Amino acid sequence: MAALSLRGVVKRYGHGKFAQQVVHGVDAEIADGEFIVIVGPSGCGKSTLLRMVAGLEEISAGQIAFRNASGERIVNNLEPAERDIAMVFQNYALYPHMSVFDNMAYGLKIAGLDKAEIRRRVDKAAAILELGTLLERRPRQLSGGQRQRVAMGRAIVRQPQVFLFDEPLSNLDAKLRAQTRLEIRRLHAELGITSLFVTHDQVEAMTLAQRMVVMNAGRIEQIGTPEAVYAEP
Ligand code: ADP
Ligand code: ADP
Repeated sequence: MAALSLRGVVKRYGHGKFAQQVVHGVDAEIADGEFIVIVGPSGCGKSTLLRMVAGLEEISAGQIAFRNASGERIVNNLEPAERDIAMVFQNYALYPHMSVFDNMAYGLKIAGLDKAEIRRRVDKAAAILELGTLLERRPRQLSGGQRQRVAMGRAIVRQPQVFLFDEPLSNLDAKLRAQTRLEIRRLHAELGITSLFVTHDQVEAMTLAQRMVVMNAGRIEQIGTPEAVYAEP
C-alpha cells in the first residue's frame, strides 16, 4: 500500500498561445489506506488530476510521489504499468469474447504470472466480489452491476498500491449505483488500498469519502472529512 504526495501539480493542454492551464499547482498529502473522493463541477480538472496520478496524462510541472515501507518513488516519468496502480473506469470495457475469468486473468497472463497464482488471485477477487458463480459467463450475459464488479475484479487482481476510480458508477441505474457503492466500501474495508475516487455525485462522495477533495477551476478549494466540508458555509 502507498501514501501519495501531490506537490505543485500543474497541467497545461496545448502549446504556445493555445496553451490552456487546467490544473493550477495542486498540493495534497494522502495517507496510506485512505479513501479520498474528489468532487467538483464538470470541467474542473478532476479526471485530469486522476489521469496524471495514473500516468495516463503527463504532468506539466510539479511532482507526484508514492511512498511505502521501501521508501519514496517519484512517479512523474513512469508508465502506468510501472506505477502499481489500477484504474476503474466509467465504461468498464470488458473483452466481449472472453469469459469473466479470462477478463480478470488477462492482465496477469500478459505480465507472465504462473497459472496457479492467476487462479488464486482471480478466485480470491471473485469471492470478494461475489462473482464465483459467474466465472464462465461472457460480459453480455451479465447485468451492468455485475460487469462493473468484473471491472473491479480485474483491477483487484493486480494487487495495486493505489486504486483510481473515474466515475465508475455513473452508467448504472440508481439501485445498482447504491449497491455498487456498498461493494466498494466493503472492498476498501477488506483490502484497505489507498483510493482516489472521482465523482460529481454528492451522495456518492458523502457515503464513500474518508476525506473529500473539493476542486473548482483547477484548484483544490477544500480538503477534509465530509462532515467538515459540508459544515462550511
Ligand atoms: P472534470 O473531470 O472535472 O470534468 P477534466 O479533467 O475532464 O474535468 O477537464 C478539465 C479541463 O481540461 C476542461 O476544461 C477540459 O475541457 C480540458 N481538457 C480535458 N482533456 C483535454 C484534452 N485532452 N485536451 C485539451 N483540453 C482538455
Ligand atoms: P502489463 O501490466 O504487463 O503491462 P497489462 O495488459 O496488464 O500488462 O496492462 C497493459 C497496460 O494497461 C499497462 O499500461 C497497464 O498498466 C494498463 N492497465 C491494465 N489494466 C489496468 C487497470 N485496471 N488499471 C490501470 N491500468 C491498467
